[in-house]
Amino acid sequence: MTCPYCGFDLPEETQYRLHLGLEHYGRLDEAEQEGFKESYRSENDALDRFRIIALGGLVLLYFGFLVVYALLAA
Ligand SMILES: [Zn+2]
Repeated sequence: MTCPYCGFDLPEETQYRLHLGLEHYGRLDEAEQEGFKESYRSENDALDRFRIIALGGLVLLYFGFLVVYALLAA
């Protein structure tokens, strides 16, 4: 998809809507602004989920090393 305002090429519809909202928000009609908010929210949710998973992985790794260390040190 190509941005109608600046000609920027965007392969995915989500990226397209995010680009429209971030770069040309004032020029969008109401339906397009709604679409942007929707995409923006789901993008944020995906990011939050990723942060939680990444944090959980780090905690598991930390305790894993702690257990290995405790076993080796004993
Ligand atoms: Zn654009």
